[in-house]
Amino acid sequence: MTENLKYLQTVDGNTWLVEDEAENLKINYRINEVVYQERSPFQHVMVVDSPVFGRMLVLDGIVQTTSLDGHIYNEMITHVPLSIHPNPKRVLIIGGGDCGAAREVTKYEQVEEIDMVEIDELVVKACKEHLTEVSGNLSDPRVNFIFDDGIKHVKKYKDHYDVVIVDSSDPIGPATQLFERSFYVDIHAALKEDGLMVCQSQSPIFHMHILKQTYGYIQELFPISKVYTAVVPTYPGGMWSFTLGSKKYEQVMSDQFDKDTKYVSQDILKQCFALPAFLQAALK
Ligand code: SAM
Repeated sequence: MTENLKYLQTVDGNTWLVEDEAENLKINYRINEVVYQERSPFQHVMVVDSPVFGRMLVLDGIVQTTSLDGHIYNEMITHVPLSIHPNPKRVLIIGGGDCGAAREVTKYEQVEEIDMVEIDELVVKACKEHLTEVSGNLSDPRVNFIFDDGIKHVKKYKDHYDVVIVDSSDPIGPATQLFERSFYVDIHAALKEDGLMVCQSQSPIFHMHILKQTYGYIQELFPISKVYTAVVPTYPGGMWSFTLGSKKYEQVMSDQFDKDTKYVSQDILKQCFALPAFLQAALK
């Protein structure tokens, strides 16, 4: 049996990707075909084609990004921190194998170096070949692909980066430690004295315990900590959270957002920090 069959089901001649989110929740996506699949030393890597979402990157059976809505997540995890830092020159992305976040960072002319530290080279290869709507033609010479564990990478740097973006998968497998306190301590040390970081902190609807824990660590380490949200249809619950930790800057610098984007706008940059009452109460 090929491994992808674990994640696929055929019903009445239709093939479905069955995403097993938790014991009591499964999300099904009808797919046209499996475009690519291989097992890396870290995870099962698959790209499927679907009628609604187009191409989808699936790691260990969990949807990571799609042609339809990948831009929402990738724009939100990059343009918010890069609009708050007044002069970002050195940017570190941890994870982000679909290359969508790196692609957004290249829109900033003042950025001189983009270190993208992805543990799994196969994810980058699969996305560059089969998910170009998300990865783009990422040939910008400022992007330095480093295939290594993000945990190890941050430990090597002190006072080095202006912005760190943690674009990780869910806290399982190789990403488990990317949600631990010691990792944020190392990021804090790797940032310059006015640096800032952002991480994806899961669903406020289904993973509140992870969001609260992540926010708690960041709040303890950074003088400025904030949560913002966006709607990403392929993530469970739709509503997704990001947590920002900053040593100095907290406001969006310009009142004229001028990047070529589909989701982020000047209004979104301001309003994304407006939280619903249940979230405000949970993060108190
Ligand atoms: N937008 C996606 C989401 O929230 O579902 C995640 C994007 S990206 C595909 C996540 C990447 O993190 C994966 O390619 C995975 O290989 C990478 N990753 C997981 N653990 C890592 C680690 N310890 N160091 C570096 N990259 C890691």
